[in-house]
Amino acid sequence: MNDNVDRAELQKFSELAAKWWDREGPMRPLHDINPARLKWIDDLASLTGKRVLDVGCGGGVLTEAMAQKSEYVVGIDLADKPLKVARLHALESSARVEYIECAAETLAAQQPASFDVVTCMEMLEHVPEPQQTVQACATLVKPGGWLFFSTINRNAKAFALAIVGAEYVLRLLPRGTHEYAKFIKPSELSRYARAAGLEVHGVIGMRYNPFTNTATLASDTDVNYMMACRKL
Ligand code: SAH
Repeated sequence: MNDNVDRAELQKFSELAAKWWDREGPMRPLHDINPARLKWIDDLASLTGKRVLDVGCGGGVLTEAMAQKSEYVVGIDLADKPLKVARLHALESSARVEYIECAAETLAAQQPASFDVVTCMEMLEHVPEPQQTVQACATLVKPGGWLFFSTINRNAKAFALAIVGAEYVLRLLPRGTHEYAKFIKPSELSRYARAAGLEVHGVIGMRYNPFTNTATLASDTDVNYMMACRKL
């Protein structure tokens, strides 16, 4: 049994499963940010020929995109319905991906130091103990390997844009998708990373334009941001 999971969060994502690949639907922001985040990951870690793990993969939007470049990709999540959707979609698109219903902590105990690249995107703000997830990701990556995290910063601007703006005004995301108290400051995520034996390579902001539905990378990390780390 793994305690680092909030069942209500999994339920929320399960209810959205059928619409995961609907580019106009509630998961639209994940599709819109995908090209920018994929490029950032690939530019730094060069996915070609790599063994990749996507933690909290959901319906597989990033997982499948990484599979087009890498050698072998595993996606793990604890919500069964999004995983079923991910498997079906991979069948249709012939993506070479393996999806497993499994916690990062469990896989870390079974397969330590097994992946060249570990991604954990838009997931840490949904778990009770994000530092434990970061530790598990660190255990799963090989020495010298890359890790990529993304989450939402915690400040007044993030509250205004990521919750009030995205959920209430623009209705980009269903209400209740995010809880302010679970947002994570880059300084906190860096601390978790260093405590897990990782070196923080860089942090970059992701600016989402809700009118053009596109995401661009930016130095401003006030709201959405990604962090690249390496295992020492
Ligand atoms: N990483 C994907 C999906 C983000 S949505 C992407 O960026 O495209 C957040 C995902 O985290 C959901 O699929 C949810 O089921 C998963 N999740 C939440 N808590 C989790 C936990 N404790 N362990 C594994 N996955 C979890």
